[in-house]
Amino acid sequence: MYRLDVLVQGYPGRSVCHGGLGWSTIALLRGEGRVILVDVGAFGVRKELEKQLSAHGVAPADVTDVVLTHAHYDHSVNYTLFPAATVWIGRVEMDWARHEPPGFNPLPELYVQDLAHSARVRLVEAGETFLPGLTAIAAPGHTPGCLLFRMASQPPVLFTGDAAKNRAELLSLRTDMTMDAEASLASLETVWRLWREAPDMIVVPGHDLSLRLDAEGRPDYVGERKAAIAAWFGEDLSVTTTINLTKGME
Ligand SMILES: [Zn+2]
Repeated sequence: MYRLDVLVQGYPGRSVCHGGLGWSTIALLRGEGRVILVDVGAFGVRKELEKQLSAHGVAPADVTDVVLTHAHYDHSVNYTLFPAATVWIGRVEMDWARHEPPGFNPLPELYVQDLAHSARVRLVEAGETFLPGLTAIAAPGHTPGCLLFRMASQPPVLFTGDAAKNRAELLSLRTDMTMDAEASLASLETVWRLWREAPDMIVVPGHDLSLRLDAEGRPDYVGERKAAIAAWFGEDLSVTTTINLTKGME
């Protein structure tokens, strides 16, 4: 099967005065003769993604497959950086996204049009095992065509994209930023059903650290959160203030 490395941690937050942060999870899978990225992040992550790929010994041209949970910009736009990769996205997602007019939402309209006409895009059906050991599961709500990806490894891994953005959504069964709250609830219940079927499963959310169930069956973080901003509040470029974003004020 595949070795999993999370290259960029998703972050469970939004900016207070500047809209979404768009800090989404980017995962690398290697095995079966393939180099796969599950989601590829937004423009702001490009330098860090380059650094992480290099640290893992992966050149952009080595990436064989880019697998997209959904079409939002913070998960999708960097597919252009992997010229040899097949790009996998849900058929329902593409059919919806390509007909959406530009709007004040996270859909990158020009990238969606490029994907809609690209010869290297392969459309994934819900229920399909589209790559060895990787099966797509419908999880609509956040967008109409969101997919979960279940990796049949030992332990299994479930990539939830924004169907379950973070631990709080999984615990509360409520979702922020959804197009259809009822559908989102059903999708969260799908995640929980899959998790109860395989309690050792690692869940990789779209905007949070990876999770596993503790002895009480509650999601517990795998690894340690890292997030900070360095700001120039003074008069000298060499002086920055670092703001830790791993814990804070209420
Ligand atoms: Zn999204």
